[in-house]
Amino acid sequence: MTAKPGQGPAHFEALFNQAPCGYLVTDDGGRITAVNDTFASWTGYSRSHLLGSRLQSLMPVGDQILYSTHCIPQLGINGAVSEIAVEIIGAEGERRAALLSASRSPASDAKPAVVRVIIFSAHERRIYEKELVAALRAAEESESRRAEAEKELQHLALHDALTGLPNRAGLKSELDQHLAGGIAGAGRLAVLFIDLDHFKAVNDSLGHAAGDELLVAVAQRLASAAAGTSTVARLSGDEFVVADTFAGPTEATGLAAGLLEVLRTPMQIEGLEIVTSASIGVAVAEAAGETLEDLIRRADIAMYRAKELGRSRWELHEPAESDPTVDRLRALGELRRGIREGALRVHYQPRIDLRTGRTSGVEALVRWQHPTRGLLPPSEFITMAEESGLVRPLGAWVLGETLRQADNWRGEGPGGASLEFAVNLSARQLNDPELVLMVEAALRLRSIDPALLLLEITETALMADPAAALKSLTALKDLGVGLAVDDFGTGYSSLTYLKKFPIDELKIDRSFINGLGSDSGDSAIVGSCIDLAHAVGIRAVAEGVETLAQVQALTAMGCDLAQGFHFARPLPAPLLKEWLDASAGGEPARA
Ligand code: C2E
Ligand code: CA
Ligand code: CA
Repeated sequence: MTAKPGQGPAHFEALFNQAPCGYLVTDDGGRITAVNDTFASWTGYSRSHLLGSRLQSLMPVGDQILYSTHCIPQLGINGAVSEIAVEIIGAEGERRAALLSASRSPASDAKPAVVRVIIFSAHERRIYEKELVAALRAAEESESRRAEAEKELQHLALHDALTGLPNRAGLKSELDQHLAGGIAGAGRLAVLFIDLDHFKAVNDSLGHAAGDELLVAVAQRLASAAAGTSTVARLSGDEFVVADTFAGPTEATGLAAGLLEVLRTPMQIEGLEIVTSASIGVAVAEAAGETLEDLIRRADIAMYRAKELGRSRWELHEPAESDPTVDRLRALGELRRGIREGALRVHYQPRIDLRTGRTSGVEALVRWQHPTRGLLPPSEFITMAEESGLVRPLGAWVLGETLRQADNWRGEGPGGASLEFAVNLSARQLNDPELVLMVEAALRLRSIDPALLLLEITETALMADPAAALKSLTALKDLGVGLAVDDFGTGYSSLTYLKKFPIDELKIDRSFINGLGSDSGDSAIVGSCIDLAHAVGIRAVAEGVETLAQVQALTAMGCDLAQGFHFARPLPAPLLKEWLDASAGGEPARA
């Protein structure tokens, strides 16, 4: 490979000689092995005279000592550049002040150590120093400009452009500073989550400029009302947060009340007098380690409640209260909409009479056709529906829809009889004082014989409050509907209650059916459940039957009804109808 133009050794040699300062290379002892023209003409010595002589010999004795004791030892450190001001004695005996800058490459395998020396004359040295100072100053200036620009960027990143308040990131950083610097008073960290009421209406009716003006005015009011150590931030849109340490919840909600008051005073926006209000959620740190984000989330939940309870008020988030995440609230909203807009479905799973092999009825099992997540099983939403109370409208819908289907399928049962329809009831529905009226109305609407309806209630729900359950069951029984204890074996019902409850059926829990045949314990349990049911004069039903062996074992033990994937999965109404038609004609049902 050939050297590119400008890179060959000849060019370096020319540069070496032309340089405006003296260049020398010496060995460790100071003996000169290379020297440039500039140094030669500067001192008046010929290059041949200089080569081989010692650099120190060109210095007065004091400088020789300085060079040897001060400059050279520093060069031992690899890469270090050592600088020293000395005098160089020229060929005519004249002394010239010079700045000497030396660096050293240590010896390696074949090569001895070399010391490279640059020598500036005093005049050059002044230029050098001037340039150095100028360069240093320029560097300093650009550094401070850079720092300023960085500060500005940082400010932009941490603040909201419209109101100038810290944003979410800024809130965290300010709060961290306050807490670390002990500026925030002692006490517990608390967050006030403030959301303007009906801000969208202002924005929509008066325009964005007015909306912005309102936000700026609100920001100013909050900032001056919450003055002191509090950090006021704007999270987004019309959401603000005030964070500080407080002695306790009373102090924090006191500030919330004060802020509500301040916001209620009318504002002048674009020449109009606007009255605004806000809903505030308050959360106070309980446990150590509760982060700002935790508190914001809890305060947000409390804020939602303040909205639901009529707005223009504050609500305190109690750490002990059930803690639905914002996601959960969204899911609840979706479910509420789903119920209203017809996104629920009922699938039907056949119940087989083990003595005849015929389908005697179906169990209605709800599904939710979710707009984005697809068809959801009840495990995804029943608990949420129960906890929120949505299970009442949901349950009423399932019952209504099932009885509509029962009306359609009149006479589709064995030998032209009608099928029996089992519908699940939740604990929450059981305690609903309107339950009986609701069931009665649903039956009447479709003129369905109450005896064709079987309501399933889990053993756990019944035993939660047996006395109350007994009352509800008795009222339902009076309507003439059938009652089943679902998931039997998983709760702790006493025989006393089983005898007292006006029930018609025990549904043995799927987990025991699973082990039938393989687990002798399970087989024994299933056997005694069947016996128990028969002893109190009611039917035994097995659910979750998946194999022929299970069917045979159940038949041998005298189980009355069975249900499970072995026969059919829960199916949408049209498919179930097909299945019924296919398995009719006296043939025992098969999967
Ligand atoms: P469940 O009342 O015990 O319903 C039986 C569950 O077992 C159903 O699950 C059914 O699909 C499943 N299953 C049936 N046969 C087999 C089988 O052979 N093997 C297995 N592994 N599973 C089988 P699903 O439909 O997911 O319903 C789950 C639970 O949701 C139900 O348990 C019931 O407690 C509740 N649920 C369903 N619909 C409603 C409703 O309308 N209202 C209320 N309150 N709860 C409902
Ligand atoms: Ca059930
Ligand atoms: Ca069950």
